[in-house]
Amino acid sequence: MEISTQNNQITATTGISSVEAAPHRSLCTDCGVSRTSNPKQCASACQFIKPDYKGLEIKVHGRQRSPDIEDEIHFGPFTRMYRASLRTPSPGAQWSGITTRIAEKLLEQGRVDAVLTMQADPNDKWRPVPILINQAMDMSKARGMRMGYAPLLSLLEPAQRLGYKKLAIIGIPCQIYALRALEQTLGLEELFVIGTPCSDNTTTENFHQFLNLITPKPEEVTYLEFKANYHVELRFQNGLVKEIPFLQLPLSDLPKDFFPLTCRTCVDYTNVLSDITVGYMGGEGEQWIIARNKKGEELLALLGDEVVLTPPGSAGKRHSAVVGFKKNVELAAGGLPLRKMPNWLRPIVSWLMPRIGPRGLEFARTRVEMKAIESILHLRRELPSRMKHMVPAHIWSLAKPYDLSPKPEETNSASSR
Ligand SMILES: Cc1cc2nc3c(=O)[nH]c(=O)nc-3n(C[C@H](O)[C@H](O)[C@H](O)COP(=O)(O)OP(=O)(O)OC[C@H]3O[C@@H](n4cnc5c(N)ncnc54)[C@H](O)[C@@H]3O)c2cc1C
Ligand code: SF4
Ligand code: SF4
Repeated sequence: MEISTQNNQITATTGISSVEAAPHRSLCTDCGVSRTSNPKQCASACQFIKPDYKGLEIKVHGRQRSPDIEDEIHFGPFTRMYRASLRTPSPGAQWSGITTRIAEKLLEQGRVDAVLTMQADPNDKWRPVPILINQAMDMSKARGMRMGYAPLLSLLEPAQRLGYKKLAIIGIPCQIYALRALEQTLGLEELFVIGTPCSDNTTTENFHQFLNLITPKPEEVTYLEFKANYHVELRFQNGLVKEIPFLQLPLSDLPKDFFPLTCRTCVDYTNVLSDITVGYMGGEGEQWIIARNKKGEELLALLGDEVVLTPPGSAGKRHSAVVGFKKNVELAAGGLPLRKMPNWLRPIVSWLMPRIGPRGLEFARTRVEMKAIESILHLRRELPSRMKHMVPAHIWSLAKPYDLSPKPEETNSASSR
């Protein structure tokens, strides 16, 4: 049996009632809390209202990220990191399918009653819709990446009504933040949280606009990924695979509000509150796993020798790439045209970047620092009064080497959130 939401309604074989449309909030990614029977919970659950990253890191992992452990300020608390791939990749998965395979294992072994995750809308393969899956074989429906927002957590109450006490949840950082903030109120006996990193998300409508710009056959695209080799990979129905260098993407043709302010100012790139994060940024062409606590280690162990694990590599230097990025964000945030590279230089730099640019963990650090800078500059310009609530201390540490420090009114000096 499955429960899923479509067109903002929960349709369920159990007859669970529909949910109201989400109330409008300016900084909101519709994680689902506002659609529950108690939408006022957003006030304490939302990462865009008054987040407490420090408190939740301690609650979830037993400690806050440590400046004395290499990479924790960048990636959050962890026990181990790996470059990883499933020996036999799962068909339809975004990468090799580690994320959905872990959840499938939990169902196979009866460790959870259901998995809460996304599947594709039947009318639009790029639109995510939440789903509760309680059969291992149905995890294949969840595989792959969709662009957009969907109210994952709106299915927590239906899960409770179905008597599910042991859940696994797969989600992106803004969903997992709210989940963790509400965890104690859910009455669960067991919760496993499998997170993916997330950046530069936008509405599914905007994403379609982007697809229209990068290919004359957008309806035939079956797969898209921004890869760590500085290319976007597109796969088409007829089996064709195309890689477009980032530098040759028509980003300057996109409207200014293409990326909503939420995603331009989101400070949790690597999903620090998950038990295990499964991404690709530090994986140099493979996946990147961050086990964050005992449960995360347990989840990884479920894969046994289905997964090949190697230490992550790191090469190149990030500083000048991040400086260049900061200059462009400053120009864009100030309404000025971006510094454009001459067309003749683009293919040369596109060829050079995967070879001499930051790679592996250095690439992941680069992206995390860029995101920190982007959050500060966009909030400073568009919602300065939110800075002291939304920008935690570790983001200022990441931005410091790039001459960005908080003004007195931009920090909550009473705490080091
Ligand atoms: C919008 C977005 C941006 C991302 N950006 C990055 C990034 O910058 N760097 C990085 O390392 N990784 C990023 N990821 C994660 C990456 O795309 C892969 O999901 C991850 O590497 C796992 O691959 P896999 O083969 O194990 O996943 P699979 O086994 O294919 O499972 C993917 C899981 O993600 C869920 N999912 C798909 N779309 C959404 C969505 N819109 N919202 C919530 N859940 C969803 C699916 O339901 C499924 O459970 C992003 C993911 C999303 C959704
Ligand atoms: S908690 Fe979720 S639904 Fe509520 S405002 Fe935040 S993102 Fe939106
Ligand atoms: S970038 Fe941040 S705010 Fe936007 S969807 Fe991803 S996790 Fe949520």
